[in-house]
Amino acid sequence: MRRVLNIHEVDDARLDEVQMPDAGDSDVLIDVKACGICGSDLSYIKMGGIMRPEGGVTPLGHEAAGEVTYVGKNVEGITVGERVVINPMQTPSMIGSGGPEGAFTENLLVSDARIGDSILPIPKGLPFEIAALTEPLAVALHGVNRAEVVPGDKVVVFGCGPIGLGMVLWLLDRGITDVVALDLAEDRLERARALGAQAALNPAEVNVREELIKLHGVGKVLNRDAAGTDAYIDAAGAPNILSDVIGMAKFHSRLVITAAYMQPVEVHLGAMLTTEMTITTAMGYPDEMPEVLAALPRIADKAGSMISHRFGLDEVIAALDVARSPASAKVMIDI
Ligand SMILES: [Zn+2]
Repeated sequence: MRRVLNIHEVDDARLDEVQMPDAGDSDVLIDVKACGICGSDLSYIKMGGIMRPEGGVTPLGHEAAGEVTYVGKNVEGITVGERVVINPMQTPSMIGSGGPEGAFTENLLVSDARIGDSILPIPKGLPFEIAALTEPLAVALHGVNRAEVVPGDKVVVFGCGPIGLGMVLWLLDRGITDVVALDLAEDRLERARALGAQAALNPAEVNVREELIKLHGVGKVLNRDAAGTDAYIDAAGAPNILSDVIGMAKFHSRLVITAAYMQPVEVHLGAMLTTEMTITTAMGYPDEMPEVLAALPRIADKAGSMISHRFGLDEVIAALDVARSPASAKVMIDI
C-alpha cells in the first residue's frame, strides 16, 4: 500500500491509502523524497478538484523530486537509483493536475516516462528539496522570459509568494538590479528584500505610482508623467492590478500576467491607448526546466531561502493550512 493526497470534494482533501501503482514496460516508479505545495494545489482544493470524475478523486502534487525504483524495459537512458525531478507538463498522465497520479505519495508512477523530457536527472549533490523547487522556479523563469527584460530595465513584480520570489531571484540573477516587489504581507516583503530586491513595498500602505517614480524615475506617455518602469509582472492576481498598471505605465512598457484569474477583469482600453503598452500572459514552462536544474547548484542557497516550512507526508493536511497563510513561502513536504 501507499498513501496519496486526494481531493474528494470542495475543500475536502484527504491522505488516502491506495494500492501500489501497476507499472508497465514504458513506465517508471519514483520513491518521492520531496514535493512542494503549490498555489494551484490550494486552488484545486477550493474548486473540488479538476477534471475529477463523478465520485472519483483528483490526486495532488506536481513539484516532485525523488529516486527511481523501477524502470520499464522500454524506457531508455535511466537506471534504478537515479535521482530525478518530474516535469508534470510533459507527463501524459498530467501528474497532480487532473490526471490519475499525484506526487504527494511515497510511490509515484510516471507513465510513458522519457528521460530529459518527463523526468530529468538531478545534478550531483543537489538536495532533493532544492531539486523540488525546479518546477515553481521554472514557472517564475518563464514569466521573466516573457517580459523580455535586459540589464538596465526597471521591473515591478506583483506578489511575493513562491512564484513572485522566484521572479525576483531570476531577475537579479540576470543582472536586472532595479526590481521592486509588491505584496500585502510583511513576511513576504522581507523575503524579497533578503533576495536583494531594490525595494519591497506594501501597496496598501504606499502610493505605488509615486514610489515607482522615485525608484524608477519618470517615464512618459505623450506629454504626461508615468512611472519609469519598463516591465510589470503579475504573480499576484488581484483584480485592481491591470487598471493600476495602465494608470502608471509609460510608453511601450509591458505587463506579463502569470497569475490565474478566476473572474473577468474590467480594463479601461481608452486609458491604455496612448501607452502603446503590451499585455501578455505566461503559463507553465515550455522549455525552462532543464535551464533551472542546471542553474540550481549555483543558486541553491537563494532558492532554498524560499522554503519557509517543512512537513512530513503524514502532516500534509496541516501543511496545506500553513501554505494558505500569507506568512508562508514554499511549504515543502519531505517524504
Ligand atoms: Zn507548482
